[in-house]
Amino acid sequence: MGQKNIKRRDFLKKTGTAAVVASTGVLAAPNVIAGPRKHRWLMSTTWPPNSPLFQSGVDRFAKRVKELTAGQLTIKVFAAGELIPAFEAFEAASKGSVVQAGAGASYYWAGKSAAAQWFSAVPFGLNAQGMNSWIYAGGGLKLWEETYAPFNLIPRPYGNTGLQMGGWFNKEINSMADFKGLKMRIPGLGGKVIQKVGGTPVLLPGGEIFTALERGVIDATEFVGPLHDMRMGLHNAAKYYYTPGWHEPGTVLEVFFNKTAYEKLPKRLQAALDTAAVESNLWMLAEFDAQNGDALRTLINEHKVKIRHFSTSTLDELRSVALEVREEEASKNKQAQKVHQAFNKFQDKVGVWSAVSEHPYHQLIAKKVKL
Ligand code: CA
Repeated sequence: MGQKNIKRRDFLKKTGTAAVVASTGVLAAPNVIAGPRKHRWLMSTTWPPNSPLFQSGVDRFAKRVKELTAGQLTIKVFAAGELIPAFEAFEAASKGSVVQAGAGASYYWAGKSAAAQWFSAVPFGLNAQGMNSWIYAGGGLKLWEETYAPFNLIPRPYGNTGLQMGGWFNKEINSMADFKGLKMRIPGLGGKVIQKVGGTPVLLPGGEIFTALERGVIDATEFVGPLHDMRMGLHNAAKYYYTPGWHEPGTVLEVFFNKTAYEKLPKRLQAALDTAAVESNLWMLAEFDAQNGDALRTLINEHKVKIRHFSTSTLDELRSVALEVREEEASKNKQAQKVHQAFNKFQDKVGVWSAVSEHPYHQLIAKKVKL
């Protein structure tokens, strides 16, 4: 850069563009006065407004992107229904004409791609630690990118709920027969398990669950865990709170970007999006673990919620059915088959290690815990 240009740039910094326009009456050449090009994205989520960690996590993600790019990339976030209905976020970001990004959980898009389901929650699959391991260190992210590429989308995990609860019921679940005729809100592969054991799975976004349960449109529901379920007031609409969440052992939450919009960004801004997502993923799981215990105690001690455990035989039977469902869903197309096989292989690998490390340790610690 010549001496003249440096001087001119210093001058512009001191006086500002407005002054230059005022004094010269014209805008100077953009390569001289314009700073780095600013990018403004819109993003629509599947979460209700004010949903803790889910929606606030997306807001936090957008804030971090702005900070990391010094304002060069800003993302205006809309909750479900504010701009686009919850379950249209994927399609909208895929088209990229109204929004450039979205957030949700990949099992919401099973109708678009059967393979998508493996990247959020697999019944009797990996927990949060395992999902992160598969995605970041086991080839999972590459498979996820492949799965979303036909939709012109790029996925990134931005959070994990940890192990969820098994759901809210108005009757006890003592055997598999108790699932028969049960209309339950439960998404993803878990919903298909409920269908196979004689129930009716219903897919409802978070914002519609309480009303549906209270009015008897559904008999039972799962949502997340103590923190979210209590906020939603589910303890006012059902008696029994079951554990464990066999259907969602470590649910990954996603942000997705329109691929064309992402690829138009300078590499540095792409890196900021990726980095903010990784940071958010770590932050969210930490928050879930930090807050769920207090919420659980409040549910038990103040709201007198009855915690019930699915029996070992019920869980064993659910697991057999879940493994069948995983096979059946995988047989829907080549990509689902590929993802399913990779997932199984990875689950087997980390399972061997956790069976001799995490598992015996947690069994011992759990015996010492007082609710
Ligand atoms: Ca759930």
